[in-house]
Amino acid sequence: MAETVFCAGCGIAIQTEDEQAVGYAPASALKRDVVICKRCFRLKHYNEVPDISLTDDDFIQLLQKIGDTEALVVNIVDIFDFNGSWIPGLHRFVGDNDVLLVGNKADVLPKSTNLDKLKNWMHHAAKDLGLRPLDIFLMSAETSLGVDDLAAAIDHYRAGKDVYVVGATNVGKSTFINRLIERLGGDDRFKMTTSQFPGTTLNFIDLPLSDGQSLVDTPGIINHHQMAHYVDYDELKIITPKKEIKPKVYQLNEKQTLFLGGLARLDYIGPDRRSLVCYVSNELYIHRTKMENADALYEEQVGQLLVPPKEAEGFGPLVPHDFALKSENTDVVFSGLGWITVKGRGAQVRAYAPKGVRVTVRPSII
Ligand code: GDP
Repeated sequence: MAETVFCAGCGIAIQTEDEQAVGYAPASALKRDVVICKRCFRLKHYNEVPDISLTDDDFIQLLQKIGDTEALVVNIVDIFDFNGSWIPGLHRFVGDNDVLLVGNKADVLPKSTNLDKLKNWMHHAAKDLGLRPLDIFLMSAETSLGVDDLAAAIDHYRAGKDVYVVGATNVGKSTFINRLIERLGGDDRFKMTTSQFPGTTLNFIDLPLSDGQSLVDTPGIINHHQMAHYVDYDELKIITPKKEIKPKVYQLNEKQTLFLGGLARLDYIGPDRRSLVCYVSNELYIHRTKMENADALYEEQVGQLLVPPKEAEGFGPLVPHDFALKSENTDVVFSGLGWITVKGRGAQVRAYAPKGVRVTVRPSII
């Protein structure tokens, strides 16, 4: 039987029979030195994701293998979407293995962010989710900020073991691994597919380390409550911050509303007047109105003034979540879209997001 060939983009075994199934490449592609599947080819050249994917169960089965091996686990989260990019049940998959927790995309955080406070918060948030990481790092895989420190820590903590890099889709895992490959000698054959769309790595990919051990890239788990699944490619470009976020401050009177495009809404019910600070993509349009006009405005303007979404058809309605805010400054987090910090104790708010997208609150991290 012919030797199995793996896609250099996503790691899936290549097959040449079924064009609709994962791993398809035309037979002629097998003659090349570097073979990539049709899906990665389209992704690379057209930024298109043909709709072929593994099921959630497949992902979970793959991840469960980690607990059976002795390894160091590097868990990457998107610092802009911590809970949205958390792998549910991760603490069970890793077994007794040590975990390094890495917050990626630190380049989008405002300069005023207190990084120690943020790491401390990540530590507590991980603990609440059942995981006790050995150490915590912030990095930007895109700008390489913090990547050398993390690479050194991985080498230190792995102590001769294999390394598994895990993360939900879209956290920047492929970008990070490409940075590591550059440091390991820059073998271009291994360059992964990176994309703005979730779900590009389909199987485990082994990268050789100098002592014969492997660094293993795992498929990104798709979290269905991530905002990225509710918008299309162009809309995702608008809501994903690419540069340092410029916080936008609003003084709201009671019974006023902020719309984050047409994707989310925060009603400040009261009491009194206070500051709300929006930490979202600089390109996302924010609209303020009176609460009493908000429903009618949304009805009329979603897909027009309030974009994204660019089509009102088939979208909505937004689902309300009520919160009584207790801490001094509280972040109301819209998974994948950003957060609004409500200053001062005792505010009543109602936060709206598409059905299925999580809205959570936490003590302010900035
Ligand atoms: P994966 O699905 O986890 O492998 O994620 P990718 O590496 O494909 O990255 C997903 C998206 O996040 C792409 O649009 C990347 O350009 C972007 N990205 C990755 N790392 C960073 C980073 O450090 N900062 C910012 N701002 N964007 C990043």
